[in-house]
Amino acid sequence: MLNADMPENCLRGHCPKCGRGKIARSYFRIREACEVCHFQFLRGEGFFLGAMVVSYGIFVFGVLPVLIALWILDVLSGNAALILGVAGSIVFPVILYPLSWYLWLYLFFTFIPSQMDTDDELKA
Ligand SMILES: [Zn+2]
Repeated sequence: MLNADMPENCLRGHCPKCGRGKIARSYFRIREACEVCHFQFLRGEGFFLGAMVVSYGIFVFGVLPVLIALWILDVLSGNAALILGVAGSIVFPVILYPLSWYLWLYLFFTFIPSQMDTDDELKA
């Protein structure tokens, strides 16, 4: 699983197992399984919550601190920072949808590599 191509494969949305198949069918549709190696991407009910957490984490820890810093440094007014924060909380999850899935799948299978081996059990 861990190899030098992993970051590039993740950002390109390629399968965490074979690195060739695409994770997303379209911008808002994730494939159930890899088109090349048939590795299962979707792992049952609630698995999508991980992608939501990744998207939320990127916004809260990546974007919000920048807005707060700009407000503290008087680059943005409080109202402008608030409006950008609220608008960003709506827009960013949409923009980050595929990337949050890619990151979630790679995080999941990196930190729980034994789940790579349960793939055959999921197909049965
Ligand atoms: Zn694959």
